[in-house]
Amino acid sequence: MKKTIALIAHDHCKEDLVTWAQNHMEILKQHDLCGTRTTATKISEETGLDVFAFLSGPKGGDQQIGAKIAEGKIDVLIFFWDPLASMPHDPDVKALLRLSVLANIPTASNPATANLVLNFLK
Ligand code: PGA
Repeated sequence: MKKTIALIAHDHCKEDLVTWAQNHMEILKQHDLCGTRTTATKISEETGLDVFAFLSGPKGGDQQIGAKIAEGKIDVLIFFWDPLASMPHDPDVKALLRLSVLANIPTASNPATANLVLNFLK
């Protein structure tokens, strides 16, 4: 069944997410994709996948995606957050992760877990 998958990566993790998306194109193209603006744009450009872009994360995109999760409109969150950098929008990042746990949606923060989640969607 078609799912809505949100894709977000902090700057140092964007290449990892693009590579991961390239490796899973066949499955990803069967679902609705969205993401924060820079991440969504980069994935679209480098894979050709159609990824709806919310605002950039630091400008409210994390909160927009969190709101969609709260409304039950996002089924899976792939969020490669940077464990080695502090973010000016850290409260938004925490809020997003809190909502994904609260809504009990599969949430992957690294490629290993994202692989498991995607295998489950097959
Ligand atoms: P970005 O946002 O995709 O617009 O860079 C990601 C984030 O920092 O949350």
